Amino acid sequence: MRKDTLKHQGKRQQLAAVVAGKGITDEKVLDAIKKIPRHLFMDSSFEDHAYQDKAFPIAADQTISQPYTVAFQSEVLQVFKGATVLEIGTGSGYQTAVLCEMGAKVYSIERQQELFKKTRLFLGKIGYRPKYLAFGDGYKGLPEYAPFDRIIVTAGAPFVPKALLSQLKVGGRMVIPVGKNEQIMTLLERRSETEFEKTEFGQFRFVPLLEDKN
Ligand code: SAH
Repeated sequence: MRKDTLKHQGKRQQLAAVVAGKGITDEKVLDAIKKIPRHLFMDSSFEDHAYQDKAFPIAADQTISQPYTVAFQSEVLQVFKGATVLEIGTGSGYQTAVLCEMGAKVYSIERQQELFKKTRLFLGKIGYRPKYLAFGDGYKGLPEYAPFDRIIVTAGAPFVPKALLSQLKVGGRMVIPVGKNEQIMTLLERRSETEFEKTEFGQFRFVPLLEDKN
């Protein structure tokens, strides 16, 4: 197991300050960034860059999201202690760890088996205990565990999957980047069985949410 040193910890404080400088104010989000050893979520060849506010490649042609993006989505989500959160796109597990640090009960789905296996093992090793990690298709959500207080999609969705809307509690919030090449960060608040209120934020760039290949 690679190490977490004082130097890494110092760099994380700086990263949290950079993210705060870009407008993130939720202390729980900033504390999570200060605490989580992001370098361990990345390939050792990128380790020196782990505390830059940038996305980096991980296995299976995927990416670990930019810290600011993770922070932005986490803040808009308004996670509360004990909230059930469904994450689509486990990837490196970094966003999963942020949600765990914020006190959420996390359910996360990943469609790349290599990442699913690797991240499940790794999160356990560093002491994160999401409720459930699934290998499967995020478009379908997890009906057997629904409804959720919060849903977060961490890949660019060409449209908002109906199954995910139906798995959100009334009063719940879903944050999803919608679009093909670039995405508009979109918040959907469920007001009733049939009503959703939409708020759109700025542009972001994600790897695509892909259709089921299995
Ligand atoms: N939350 C991750 C972001 C990873 S990038 C992190 O912090 O590292 C987006 C991830 O979504 C990739 O791992 C990709 O394999 C996954 N993904 C893409 N389409 C998916 C789908 N239909 N269902 C589940 N996961 C999907």
